[in-house]
Amino acid sequence: MTVEEKIKGRKIGIIGMARSGLAAALLAKRFGGLPFISDSAREELLARQVEILKREEIPFETGGHTEQLLTRDFLIVSPGVPPHIDILVKARQRGLPIFSELEFAFWICRGRIIAITGSNGKTTTTTLVGEIFKAAGFETFVCGNIGQPFADIADKVTEKGVAVVEVSTFQLEAMENFQPHIAAILNLTPDHIDRHGSFEAYKQLKYRVTENQTAGDFLLLNHDDPEIRVAQISTRAKVLKFSIQPDENARTFVRDGWLWSNYENEPVMVIKTADINIPGEHNLQNAAAAVAMARLFAIAPEVMQKVLKEFPGVEHRLEKAGTVAGVTFINDSKATNVDSVCVALKAMSQPVYLILGGRDKGAGYDPISHFGRGRIKGILAIGEAREKIFNCLGQTFPTQFADSLEEAVHRCFEMALPGETVLLSPGCASFDMFENFEHRGKVFKAMVESLRKNKKKDENLQN
Ligand code: ADP
Repeated sequence: MTVEEKIKGRKIGIIGMARSGLAAALLAKRFGGLPFISDSAREELLARQVEILKREEIPFETGGHTEQLLTRDFLIVSPGVPPHIDILVKARQRGLPIFSELEFAFWICRGRIIAITGSNGKTTTTTLVGEIFKAAGFETFVCGNIGQPFADIADKVTEKGVAVVEVSTFQLEAMENFQPHIAAILNLTPDHIDRHGSFEAYKQLKYRVTENQTAGDFLLLNHDDPEIRVAQISTRAKVLKFSIQPDENARTFVRDGWLWSNYENEPVMVIKTADINIPGEHNLQNAAAAVAMARLFAIAPEVMQKVLKEFPGVEHRLEKAGTVAGVTFINDSKATNVDSVCVALKAMSQPVYLILGGRDKGAGYDPISHFGRGRIKGILAIGEAREKIFNCLGQTFPTQFADSLEEAVHRCFEMALPGETVLLSPGCASFDMFENFEHRGKVFKAMVESLRKNKKKDENLQN
């Protein structure tokens, strides 16, 4: 069946009206399908989507999913929709096909697909790969879990184009034929176990990214990751490894302070690791993965080197927010779990005042004692988690409470000496004080900016 036949004139039910669901509905309409979109939220909360749907004359329902959905030819689910809601259970009972937005967009995309998945580093690596491919002159589309849904651009990618897609486990749950030319699994740590049931189930879902790959495709795996190293992944693709060890069997590896790329058994030096702009070992892994992918498209090492020297990283991930009076401020608001805080601490070369806290996620803060030793000069604990943080870390590090992020920033700035760092790496969800982690990061950056301006004013007054 051609793509047109799969979609044209077909009744398509779409569940979830957030970005991917909406994009899928619009894509279905562009291909002559008959989309009907449904969301459990009340209409007032979906004003932007409703406006677009009305303009596009796409029928919809809000405030719950009715059985109208069960009269469709097939369903598309947004990644945020839990798989066991009533309507999906009923749809399965009736044998109604259910696809993810990733699968649907795949049907339409004519270019080559690079799919990047893993527990951490997806957004950073996807963005970096996109930058390298753009710099090398490829028609490049960066999309997926990263902001722009795949369905938004799937029909714009030509045969020569490359779609670099950040793929979440949720998208892999309801896939069928999705076949990326390159699939990369960056790392595997327990995440979203609440939704997937067990770590094993979560890993099996991640491996689905290679399920339909064939001999002309590539599966890129992190050889330094203890889970991936021993994983039994069944695949028909050519398996390649990346590493930041001096492992010359890997496609990319690190030796003598350089990141190397191995191609046709001919290792070439790509960049001195010290010249990579994004900090930390974890980002070196992300860079190693990106270089391995770029090399498969025969991109020149010089192009990769230039991008890696300049790539500023992604907003809210160890992002340099500015330097005031010699004190560096780093916004790592995306660090919403304790593992990410440890990753951030490992990347710090200067003494750190750490702003920690928000809505507690249940895991303990103990690993911070280990990674913070010799790095943390003080902790400012904020939000609902602050007492738990104090009880856990107060013995190891000087720990104070602050009533707001603003107060924490000011107190850190008072204490920090030139050459030291103030790091916002909260290790908690943001919802007790902010709309989301992006909001928290923006507030932090605005504070740093106002400190900088006030400092300038002081200097002008003194002159
Ligand atoms: P994702 O999209 O998978 O959530 P991001 O690139 O947004 O990944 O990074 C999220 C957080 O994960 C970062 O703040 C950082 O702490 C951590 N991180 C990034 N890359 C890696 C990596 N390769 N290994 C482990 N942790 C990482």
